[in-house]
Amino acid sequence: MSVSGLCQICESQPAQHRCPNCGTLACDDHFEESRGICVDCATQADPSRQSEDVDIHRF
Ligand SMILES: [Zn+2]
Ligand SMILES: [Zn+2]
Repeated sequence: MSVSGLCQICESQPAQHRCPNCGTLACDDHFEESRGICVDCATQADPSRQSEDVDIHRF
């Protein structure tokens, strides 16, 4: 997968990835390949916070 443009997080390195969660272009340094999301989302997607959201929006 090739992405054109600069990393939107550091804006100094060419982007290698596109976050499927937020659409941010990220370089290798700012993309968590193990999770497949950018570091911004990795920080926000805290497991405890995520499960809390699921509980709130549950039927
Ligand atoms: Zn970067
Ligand atoms: Zn993201």
